[in-house]
Amino acid sequence: MLRDYEQRHKRCEPLSESFNRSFFQESSSSPVGTKKQNYSTKSHQTSHVVDDDDCSYVVFTRPTNGLGNRMLSMSSAFLYALLTNRVLLVDFGPDMTHLFSEPVPNSTWLFPEDFRFGNRIYGSKVDDFGSLMKKKNNNYTDPVLVNISSSFLHDKLFYSNGVQDGLQKVAWLILKSDQYFVPYLFLMSGFRAKLDRMFPDKEAVFHHLGRYLFTPSDQAWGLIARFYDAYLEKADERIGLQIRVLDSKASPTALVLKQVLRCAQKEAQILPPLATKQNETATKKLAVLVASLSSEFYIELKDMFWKRASASTVGFHQASREEVQRSNDGSHNMMAWVDIYLLSLCDVLVTSGWSTFGYVAQGLGGLRPWILQIPDTKYGGGDTLWGQACRRAVSMEPCFHFPPSYDDNKVGVRVDGSSTVVHCEDVGGGLKLVNL
Ligand code: GDP
Repeated sequence: MLRDYEQRHKRCEPLSESFNRSFFQESSSSPVGTKKQNYSTKSHQTSHVVDDDDCSYVVFTRPTNGLGNRMLSMSSAFLYALLTNRVLLVDFGPDMTHLFSEPVPNSTWLFPEDFRFGNRIYGSKVDDFGSLMKKKNNNYTDPVLVNISSSFLHDKLFYSNGVQDGLQKVAWLILKSDQYFVPYLFLMSGFRAKLDRMFPDKEAVFHHLGRYLFTPSDQAWGLIARFYDAYLEKADERIGLQIRVLDSKASPTALVLKQVLRCAQKEAQILPPLATKQNETATKKLAVLVASLSSEFYIELKDMFWKRASASTVGFHQASREEVQRSNDGSHNMMAWVDIYLLSLCDVLVTSGWSTFGYVAQGLGGLRPWILQIPDTKYGGGDTLWGQACRRAVSMEPCFHFPPSYDDNKVGVRVDGSSTVVHCEDVGGGLKLVNL
């Protein structure tokens, strides 16, 4: 299947003959830049219906959220492309072009900068999917912008099997999303049989998609490899602690730290208790990677395990401390990618609930993490929801945080003999894939 995809991608890649034909036929506006003159294919200023030999595309547009959200939505867009015989192209801004290697050998997935529809790929010449649905317009073939993250009812019609049939006529589908919508594709009868053939192991869907799509660039790989070799490689066990605090006022450092220790020492038992005597002999060497925007957790933990003895030698390491999220900054995103990848190389993970950053790390690493409940004083101290600091994930799959309204009869019930879609541990209304 992937080899078929690669052949299609090569045939339809940006600036190929098929790409130009499809682009100039579909785009009713002139592309920006001079490239148009370099190709003999003329703009017909009309739309046309896709036939079997034509190329059709999903273009992932510049998103606004953090890297975790972006990677999850790209992997969902890729799976959608596989299911609908489209080619995935990405419209990265300068904040992302340097992070990954090209997934398809000897080709590119980067949508050419100067080949936009009008001034912006999602400019006025592109039909808005939700508006088309609202007008009950089923006769569309022009480029369509689908906003998967929108909460409007008409945008959610993307998930209807009938509408999917109509979308097949559209050669250029531009996708705006920051969601891992893969679990919902499994609930759509039109895709289900194909998905079951593609993924006998339902817990490893993102694992396969992500490992195919996201290979670190040379620059990222240098940063990852040097850190790993220097600080993680020689340990008996590597532990990743991903601490994502969304509201530092509601989740003060001391409280979060208490929760992290309760999880790691008592519930998950991946860090040893601190000894009361000073002469305890350490039998194991543990390396703990602390991934967090802030340096506070790393400093506190390092001091704690240095000043007191325990049954293991525990070294704490932090690759970056960016302090604030700046997702439109290329060097900041590089640090985020390095942290995600280093976490994925650990043997065991504690991740923060609700965090897509953690989902990507667990999925790439093939790990079922301990999901930490970040304490929140607004909820009376934080451990009130689960009654525990963390719980083990039922699968390594990411959670689809905001699915459309779904048929609850299909959720949590075996859809066939081998798999199901269930609600997420950390997000009650979310959906995730598990093996039963
Ligand atoms: P989510 O908000 O936790 O779901 O994850 P996202 O990745 O979508 O957005 C959070 C962003 O904040 C990341 O992409 C980074 O830019 C930044 N960030 C959050 N936690 C860390 C961390 O541990 N390390 C680094 N380097 N950046 C982080």
